[in-house]
Amino acid sequence: MEYSPRKMQDLLNQNDFRLKKQYGQNFIIDENIIDNIIQKSNIDKETLVLEIGPGAGSLTYKLSQAAKQVLCYEIDTTLEEVLKENLHDSSNVEILFQDFLKANPLEDLKKYSYQKLYVIANLPYYITTPIIMKIIEDRVPVDKICVMVQKEVGNRFKAQPGSKEYGSLSVYLNYYFSMKKLLDVSRNVFLPKPNVDSIVIEFTKKEHSMKVLDEALFFKLIRDSFEQKRKTLKNNLKNYDLTIVEDVLKRHGLDLSVRAEALELAIFIEIANELSR
Ligand code: SAM
Repeated sequence: MEYSPRKMQDLLNQNDFRLKKQYGQNFIIDENIIDNIIQKSNIDKETLVLEIGPGAGSLTYKLSQAAKQVLCYEIDTTLEEVLKENLHDSSNVEILFQDFLKANPLEDLKKYSYQKLYVIANLPYYITTPIIMKIIEDRVPVDKICVMVQKEVGNRFKAQPGSKEYGSLSVYLNYYFSMKKLLDVSRNVFLPKPNVDSIVIEFTKKEHSMKVLDEALFFKLIRDSFEQKRKTLKNNLKNYDLTIVEDVLKRHGLDLSVRAEALELAIFIEIANELSR
């Protein structure tokens, strides 16, 4: 497998493959970025990697060298020949030509034995959040997720209270994972070149010290608290027992005039738990 823009374009041309915008196809053509992702994600021969969107296989090839096995989901069946060619000596790769959002990863994982499960991918940008949500909601037993995402979206994922990017999604993800940026990635390393820069972000599964008593209530509370971002909790949480909310806020030196964007995860958990008692 050779990594150069020309080689990649030649390979795609030879197979009459046309890049499809509607599938978010921006293929990595810089070997250094791929090596960096592999090295920073600490994959080893006990690791099963789940890759969403192998594309032409440039990341997949190096994943297969570092990991025990690689299971991929690719929506675009016209990539089959390209992938066959690029991965002909990677016997530990399985590619399921399916829409990941409609797939059943828990079922697919049953035949694999592994010590660690990592999701490593350059995600299609049009469905970054739904993919992460599916991994959480399907309870895919991941130890770590390392994904390339649009910079702006990644910053929202890992935003901290008080920043303008902080929202319900940041709180939700922060409940499950510790998140950190691994790499900045220029738009110039993709074919075709997208209009935005990217980052590689790492999600590591959290062991919880604070238990949520009623998850459904907790998630609803987060959504409602951020319903109108510029409004106070008093306004956004009109349908809740505000005396309970106020009591919790007081313990933290706050009152109902606070906005959700100022509250850290632990306070949301405390409010939700008090409301569910
Ligand atoms: N991994 C390759 C790389 O880095 O060069 C390609 C990454 S490209 C940004 C995203 C890939 O995801 C494309 O190959 C695209 O066809 C695939 N894709 C898009 N939507 C998908 C879906 N719903 N399920 C599975 N794959 C999808």
